[in-house]
Amino acid sequence: MAAARVRIVEACIAAGRAPDAVTLTAVTKTQPPETVDAALAAGQRVFGENRVQEAQGRWSGRDRTGLELRLIGPLQTNKAEDAVRLFDVIETLDRPKLVQALVRAADRTGRRPRCLIQVNIGLEPQKAGAAPEDVPTLLDLARDHGLTIEGLMCIPPADEDPASHFARLRDLAARLGLGALSMGMSGDYPAAIAAGATHIRLGSAFFGDRNPPRETAEG
Ligand SMILES: *Cc1c(COP(=O)(O)O)cnc(C)c1O
Repeated sequence: MAAARVRIVEACIAAGRAPDAVTLTAVTKTQPPETVDAALAAGQRVFGENRVQEAQGRWSGRDRTGLELRLIGPLQTNKAEDAVRLFDVIETLDRPKLVQALVRAADRTGRRPRCLIQVNIGLEPQKAGAAPEDVPTLLDLARDHGLTIEGLMCIPPADEDPASHFARLRDLAARLGLGALSMGMSGDYPAAIAAGATHIRLGSAFFGDRNPPRETAEG
């Protein structure tokens, strides 16, 4: 965990950015309770989860005072209320129906998570996220309904150089006057930091491999 922090600081310095300009979201999906305990003991306070139900199991019994939980996986409208109860930030708002579901959930629960709009920056047919050209309309709709939109999030195509995708997400956010940029995972966060990421989402680079190779697991 400490090693990941050092590498983030190095990447910030290399990019000419202040180290505190980048928030590390520790992605706890599939991690056992001991690992979460260790991260908390090490001072980590911002966590990401990609499934609502799994996140409830991991976090609903814990004291979450001072923590920030961020949903980074796709959200179905029928899970919106559960998500609003648990998460402080929802990074995966990507369609008008979800705006409506989140507003209804916020009215019922009295909780109003901040949101990011997930952008399908590589225009991949199978991937979640709003098409870049649809983001301005979605942003207006969300704001008209009283949601707070802090920025944009993306997962670039796995088999392409991420740098140009990160740059396009940054430019889109700048055009829309949005400050938060959640981009960069274990495999590509230095490029994301160089492109202006404000939030990087690290699983394996922070915790070690979620699924160690068989040899290692048995040996
Ligand atoms: C799992 C996940 C991550 C973390 O992945 P690593 O490659 O382990 O860093 C980041 N973002 C999203 C959306 C994820 O689902």
